[in-house]
Amino acid sequence: MRQFKKSSKLDHVCYDIRGPVMDEAKRLEAAGYDILKLNIGNPAPFGFDAPEAVIREVRANLHRAQGYTDSKGILPARLAIQAYCRQKGIRGVEPDDIYIGNGVSELIVSAMQGLLDDGDEILIPAPDYPLWTAAVNLAGGVAVHYLCDEQSNWYPDLKDIKRKITPRTKGIVVINPNNPTGAVYPRAILEQIVEMAAAHELIVFADEIYDRILYDGAEHIALASLSDDVVFVTMNGLSKSQRIAGYRVGWMVVSGKKAAAKGYIEGLNMLASMRLCSNVPAQYAIPAALSGENSIADLTKPGGRLYNQMEFAWRRINEIPGLSCVRPTGAFYLFPKVDVARFGISDDQQFVKDFLTAEKVLLVQGTGFNWPKPDHFRVVLLPEIATLSSALDRLEKFLSTYRQQ
Ligand code: PLP
Repeated sequence: MRQFKKSSKLDHVCYDIRGPVMDEAKRLEAAGYDILKLNIGNPAPFGFDAPEAVIREVRANLHRAQGYTDSKGILPARLAIQAYCRQKGIRGVEPDDIYIGNGVSELIVSAMQGLLDDGDEILIPAPDYPLWTAAVNLAGGVAVHYLCDEQSNWYPDLKDIKRKITPRTKGIVVINPNNPTGAVYPRAILEQIVEMAAAHELIVFADEIYDRILYDGAEHIALASLSDDVVFVTMNGLSKSQRIAGYRVGWMVVSGKKAAAKGYIEGLNMLASMRLCSNVPAQYAIPAALSGENSIADLTKPGGRLYNQMEFAWRRINEIPGLSCVRPTGAFYLFPKVDVARFGISDDQQFVKDFLTAEKVLLVQGTGFNWPKPDHFRVVLLPEIATLSSALDRLEKFLSTYRQQ
């Protein structure tokens, strides 16, 4: 019998957030176990509803949304994105510079497909949101990981970035606020990244999907607001701040030194045309989402639900012997460090699998975020405090006797 194998293009593509440990969790669920899932950043199932006005707009436009639209998206949505860019200090954005997609995920894949030839390098943070690395690999590129420094609030290590720039480097990815670390980068760090990008003529890919999810007075600075002398591709969307991950809607904005990206833009236009257009009903959510008040602000200020969950889980993790965690200032994740010597851990996927099997709690191992050592894991802060508390009690109990080797 002829066997069909997966394409070799997928040989180095991996996305462990929905990987083998999640398959094991599904198996346990099918066997009747209740699994506490702290693995996916999907707000709606945890009771974070979208603003009513956003849903109302989508519903009201369903009849109008039956046909294909312009490949880049409906004009009212792109005008709303243009205004949002202006509000964030990103200059010179025209509706034609804006691409609406089926979530940021689709746009990340297009952005890499449209740019990379085999062997071209993209600098990506470690830890990263792993779709970036997967998309680079799928496009035939090489993901070169620069370190973020846990000792310095998980800020990018600028010296490491500098060391890793080569003649084949085409771009640098900055995820700010960061998934999985929760770091929000200060202006000085962002300015130095932009300076390096200008000096080495790199495209800056700014993934800013968590730009409205900020704690403790953190300020989000849009990278593309910092220079007109660099090509910027800024990604944002409604999955997180508006809690409509299931609608699949995000956007990508090309700004800055656009004249240097004429050929690339042609490629992006071609890829946008090839998939005709993105999900149309969801595009109608954009004007309402961006013109309304920032509905997530109430959840992220002290006393707000997300803030309380962050504060609780961060404190609780730091109480557990063998764990430590930097306090996040954005997004909704923790990326705690595990004392691997104490627990004999050399394989963090095994560690999260052992914990799942023993205590029925699902986490994601740090190496799933392209972190080079087996000494971290990610916790999603979306469950209610009672659930977080139960999960972390179970983790403490599990660790009190755990030894991998
Ligand atoms: N970028 C980051 C940093 C994310 O954390 C996520 C989702 O978790 C995405 C992009 C993809 O978002 P979506 O495709 O839902 O817009």
